[in-house]
Amino acid sequence: MIVIKTEAEIEIQRESSLLVGKTLAEVAKHIAPGVKTIFLDKIAETFIRDHKAEPGFKGYGGFPGTLCISVNDQVVHGIPGQQELKEGDIVSVDCGVLKNGFYGDSAYTFAVGEVSEELKLLMQRTKEALYLGIEQAVVGNRTGDIGYAVQQHAEKFGYGVVRELVGHGVGRQLHEKPEVPNYGRRGSGVKLKENMVLAIEPMINLGVRNVRQEADGWTIRTLDRKPSAHFEHDVAIKNGKPDILSTFSYIEEVLDKK
Ligand code: MG
Ligand code: MG
Repeated sequence: MIVIKTEAEIEIQRESSLLVGKTLAEVAKHIAPGVKTIFLDKIAETFIRDHKAEPGFKGYGGFPGTLCISVNDQVVHGIPGQQELKEGDIVSVDCGVLKNGFYGDSAYTFAVGEVSEELKLLMQRTKEALYLGIEQAVVGNRTGDIGYAVQQHAEKFGYGVVRELVGHGVGRQLHEKPEVPNYGRRGSGVKLKENMVLAIEPMINLGVRNVRQEADGWTIRTLDRKPSAHFEHDVAIKNGKPDILSTFSYIEEVLDKK
């Protein structure tokens, strides 16, 4: 069943979503060539606990990290470890927090040092696809309208839209119904209602859409080993329209100063 939140619950959840944005901004300060992904994970965990919240992913289904850190051809669910970031990499950082009983869940893909024009465009257009999907999160639309908007934008550039992983409802559980695919037909899927909260999260590949899971049981990578980008926002449907609970503004303040 699909959980409809109260207005008060949405305001509590907004706090969780904003804390994710602040955590990702803290991580952004430390993204540089030579940095190990486990170091970024520790920064995030400390920051979240300092703000009286719990890492939302740690222990979820046995996941060991606070962050999912996915470099280049890793799409999502990368496990933080001894891997060092290199100049020219792109790194997707997905973060969840649990505060006052509600989850926030948001992701951003970062450039490590200077990256190729091709990768800058992949990141920019994936973010654009996210916002085009969010525009469709209005009362009376369906999840397929969100997916259609994301897919149309991504495929226009010849990118592959990952299908095996999807967005989702989010609230007292990290993953609630409905599923929010990043592909679809207009007017198909679950009808969107006032006070639903959705995590919308396009995963867009430079090459083919196909992915596979690594032997670690978590990391999803592209089949053709070309890079992939991932951006995610938590979106409430309020007064019929999308109200983005998470934010990239703290992150982008940090990136503007870099
Ligand atoms: Mg996420
Ligand atoms: Mg999510």
